Amino acid sequence: MGRLQLNLKVGFVSSQLFGCSKLLKPERIIAVNIGRPGSLLEQDALEACERDLFTILRNVRLSDDTVYCSVDASLPDNTQHQAVSAAILYREFEEFNRIRHIAGRVTAPDAELFAIHSAITLATQQDNCEKIYIFTDSIASARRAVDPSLHSGQGHSLAVCRTLAAWLAEDSSCTITFIQAPSKLEWSIHKEAHDYAKDLISPAGLRPATSLDSVQKAITKRSQETWTRMFEDLSYKGHNFLHLERLDRDALIPTYINGGVWLSPVGGNLSVAVRLFRCILNHAPIGSYYEWFNIPEPLACECGFHCQDCDHVLLSCNKHKRKANWHPHYLKDVVDFLEENPLAFSFRRPVVKGAARLQQNGLEPFGEYLRLSSGFWVRSQLGRASQCLGVELLLLSLLCT
Ligand SMILES: [Zn+2]
Repeated sequence: MGRLQLNLKVGFVSSQLFGCSKLLKPERIIAVNIGRPGSLLEQDALEACERDLFTILRNVRLSDDTVYCSVDASLPDNTQHQAVSAAILYREFEEFNRIRHIAGRVTAPDAELFAIHSAITLATQQDNCEKIYIFTDSIASARRAVDPSLHSGQGHSLAVCRTLAAWLAEDSSCTITFIQAPSKLEWSIHKEAHDYAKDLISPAGLRPATSLDSVQKAITKRSQETWTRMFEDLSYKGHNFLHLERLDRDALIPTYINGGVWLSPVGGNLSVAVRLFRCILNHAPIGSYYEWFNIPEPLACECGFHCQDCDHVLLSCNKHKRKANWHPHYLKDVVDFLEENPLAFSFRRPVVKGAARLQQNGLEPFGEYLRLSSGFWVRSQLGRASQCLGVELLLLSLLCT
């Protein structure tokens, strides 16, 4: 089993390289990506990919000891139906078998793995079959098919490994090659497998089969929906949360994807991140905050305005630079403002000394530091809003201001 996994190599081939003995030996389980990742958005790259696929197809059709298979899966766009896995098998120019299975309520890679399993089971049963080619749109599923370790759909992988181990042991010239056929291409025999899978509509029933990845995906979806719903509740979000819009004018909603909604546009700029969180949560070293929590600090702004609140800092304070008639609609607007004005929402008091001590001595003086600084107030008054952006911002704010 381990040997199978170690022997899986991913290569990049063009039509000129196909059949090169160096590529095929000594590996006997080969995965081939056509084209380069990320390049398939371009029409030229797609056309080149299609040409390579047809070249490979022409070659495999010329040998009578080769079985080639096209596999694909179809996933329903609703919860009332199940996924379907399909495999079509060919030798020379003829299709000689096709099979499809109800895959259950699973993810696309799970269903593709099922299809690969079906294809390998049937192909290895054929007489005079020394080479197997499998056209799939998921090289990741091909990798999983020959990986016996713990993962979603492991049962299929174990079956594939057992089958291939016996088949490869029969003849040292036997090889199996997985070829990536991008689904976007809707290419020839791969499109046939796609249509074959899609033609079968199967109701989910009461207890459809499922997979580890599918269950995890469902849990993540429900968590995200709950988080979004809670975020609409002011008692959870906080009454002073700064509302901004997405580029499509919808309101920002929390997500865990790509570093989250509020963190992603900040990049690696920690100073901007800390001041952005203060601004959004309205927990910042400004007059309105000092007044709110009875902190003995000046309420007036340095510009002379009697009450320094979040709107004043963002929209009208002459201590900060901004374009005429500027108004922040989007998160990026605020980020740009903070980058241009490094003192906006920054602590006036010199906290560097405390932060330096914290860095030198670890967390030991942390409690004392919190008691002596306004960080204590930030900590105690963050309330539920902190659950959105994380109490970690307190630590960040101490270390970065
Ligand atoms: Zn001001």
